Amino acid sequence: MQTDDNMHKLKKKLNSQRIDLVAVSKGRPVEQIREAYDADQRDFGENRVQELVEKYELLPKDIRWHMIGHLQKNKVRYIVPFVAMIQSVDSLELLEKINADAQKNNRVIDCLLQIKIAREETKYGMEFEEAKKILESLKSEQNDIQPLQNICIRGLMGMASNTPDQEQIRREFRSLKNFYDEIKLKYFTQHTHCNILSMGMSGDWRIAVEEGSTLVRLGRAIFEADV
Ligand SMILES: *Cc1c(COP(=O)(O)O)cnc(C)c1O
Repeated sequence: MQTDDNMHKLKKKLNSQRIDLVAVSKGRPVEQIREAYDADQRDFGENRVQELVEKYELLPKDIRWHMIGHLQKNKVRYIVPFVAMIQSVDSLELLEKINADAQKNNRVIDCLLQIKIAREETKYGMEFEEAKKILESLKSEQNDIQPLQNICIRGLMGMASNTPDQEQIRREFRSLKNFYDEIKLKYFTQHTHCNILSMGMSGDWRIAVEEGSTLVRLGRAIFEADV
């Protein structure tokens, strides 16, 4: 019942602030995911394609699956038929590949651009400038994002440094929020669908929420005992 309890407590806190919750289920057995599902959780995140596909097949079909890990172009086709959102888009080529495969499946896939805000070398994602270039290249004559018909850019995702320095974490989240506000003003003036800022994990979600996150991705806080 641990998962169940954690779920309810977190949901209550997040709901009161209208923050969305993706339960990060990577590495967790199907039984534990089902426990969270039975506690009314519907959004789950995975970071590996094969694991995501396996779990999709075994679990209820009303789960909204989020891809949150690095995605190779040649694996896009395995998840496009069912995935709800791809949060880890880190290049224009990947975005175009998702669009092409989504078209074949007659779907429109919600995507987030993953931005590298951490100082560590190990974190994936684009620099602010790269993301701007992509948004610029997608800009239509009406000055708004449109040309890729089978993807919908819903916002940004970022991971802060894995450090005990709370102020550094805060600065990193703040830089992403500022960039999010900037691109919304510049590129999404006619559509309001760009409304997701995915930041915050088990160790830093409180700071992320204070800095303007609209969606947190929590694994350990849900599936482990005392985090
Ligand atoms: C694993 C992971 C999380 C969740 O991490 P926890 O510390 O378990 O909450 C969130 N986002 C991404 C991209 C991850 O890979």
